[in-house]
Amino acid sequence: MPTYNKLTPAILDELRTILGEKNVITDTDRMQPYSHDEVTESRYHHMPEVVVFPETTEQTAAVVKLANRSLIPVVPRGAGTGLACGAVPIYGGIILSLEKMNNILEIDPKNMFMVVQAGARTEEVQQTAAKHGLLYAGDPCSGDSCFIGGNVATNAGGNKAVKYGTTRHQVYQVEVVTPTGEITKLGSRLNKSTTGYCLEQLVIGSEGTLGVITEITLKLVPLPQHVMDLLAVFPDVDSAIAFVNVIAQSGITPTCLEFMDNVAIRCVERFINEKLPYDENGNYLIIQIEGDSEEKLEDYAMRIDELCSSHGGLELLVANSAQIWKARKSFAEAVRHETLIHSNEDIVVPIDKMPEAMKHMAGICEKHGAAARTVSHAGDGNIHLSILQGSVPLAEWPERLAKIHKEIFSYVYPLGGKLSGEHGIGYKKKALFHEYTDPVELQLMQAVKKAWDPNLILNPGKVFDC
Ligand SMILES: Cc1cc2nc3c(=O)[nH]c(=O)nc-3n(C[C@H](O)[C@H](O)[C@H](O)COP(=O)(O)OP(=O)(O)OC[C@H]3O[C@@H](n4cnc5c(N)ncnc54)[C@H](O)[C@@H]3O)c2cc1C
Repeated sequence: MPTYNKLTPAILDELRTILGEKNVITDTDRMQPYSHDEVTESRYHHMPEVVVFPETTEQTAAVVKLANRSLIPVVPRGAGTGLACGAVPIYGGIILSLEKMNNILEIDPKNMFMVVQAGARTEEVQQTAAKHGLLYAGDPCSGDSCFIGGNVATNAGGNKAVKYGTTRHQVYQVEVVTPTGEITKLGSRLNKSTTGYCLEQLVIGSEGTLGVITEITLKLVPLPQHVMDLLAVFPDVDSAIAFVNVIAQSGITPTCLEFMDNVAIRCVERFINEKLPYDENGNYLIIQIEGDSEEKLEDYAMRIDELCSSHGGLELLVANSAQIWKARKSFAEAVRHETLIHSNEDIVVPIDKMPEAMKHMAGICEKHGAAARTVSHAGDGNIHLSILQGSVPLAEWPERLAKIHKEIFSYVYPLGGKLSGEHGIGYKKKALFHEYTDPVELQLMQAVKKAWDPNLILNPGKVFDC
């Protein structure tokens, strides 16, 4: 990595000239929230030297140009809900927060698209689309707090990815400030294009290492007229997960297929202080279905009910939607409530490998004295395993966690799995990513980074080192 320069009073003055006094902060107390994301362990926290709040794309470009010229790292930041330390300024420098670029710029219901600034909250994007009878289908569990730009930068998944895909499937075009401070629009509002490389898809999921995303043109679809949440309860993990493929083969495409194991159900129950169905022995598949009529949904529900009882299910319930989604979406907070010493993994494996992977990984945690809590976006093979401190002494935790990670990933990769289904690599998973990625693939990624960011100033030390 290059040696970066420290911020000087002269550079601070230039930042104030570009952005105005109020949009440049250096006060330690005010900068503190920008020293971390949702990863709670303090060894992953780093203070920036300055936090800036551009209000336009042009201001963003001027900041990046200045940083590039002065060899100062710039870390783009959305809402800081990330779980991989992607928005943490590990080399100090400038945090570039998109929070003041939060406008919905345009919605075109007839042509079903909308244009938003990167700092718009995801929930606001969803609600604006819904007011026009349309659906923005990106739906991460953090939607009430994360920003759409953060979703694009991480290619966020979430609950509706089974039917609609991840964030990358919802994007027509991104406006980007490149690491050298140029402004460009990548992609187009076209349904097909083989006109050169697909650079917008390269930026999507690049975790702030290839460009600052300032504006996004999003695809919308008609808002489903009728939605039903079902709760399929199974006596064990194997039968619950096996049911994911049973549904896929039935020809019914659910919107969501979310799994919670019994330990996770009890963990959430304690946190929300509500009794959940079959909490003594149940494992859940939350199945959301959509249709254009009540009759169609009832038909789907009856077919799923028959399949559930012939594949080992205990019961198929019409879910109390508010309660079941509250339970599912509270999982991360419930784990945090148990202990701040934990590590959230979002391993992805082929769906048929999920039951054995979940059991095996829980066994590894137990062997090392840690505790495991598991939920998953089961329809995508994306396992959210939280590894909790359990009986591991605090002083031994980093080393023990490293051993657990080693055993887990040595097991997951030969299964055809990968490190992250949606949270990304950031800083936290960089060493593991380096260890488990094919060297040729890694070199190609490093070559792309060097071509886009010759001075390596944009979010350095994330995903991989160059
Ligand atoms: C309770 C909870 C539930 C969650 N559920 C989900 C889920 O269901 N699915 C899922 O995918 N994730 C989930 N997450 C993780 C997180 O919310 C997502 O990764 C989200 O997309 C991050 O958005 P953000 O605005 O908070 O980005 P940040 O955390 O601020 O940044 C994340 C990364 O994106 C980069 N970045 C942010 N904005 C920009 C930009 N405008 N231009 C360039 N780079 C940028 C940052 O540099 C960083 O590398 C969850 C997190 C929590 C705490």
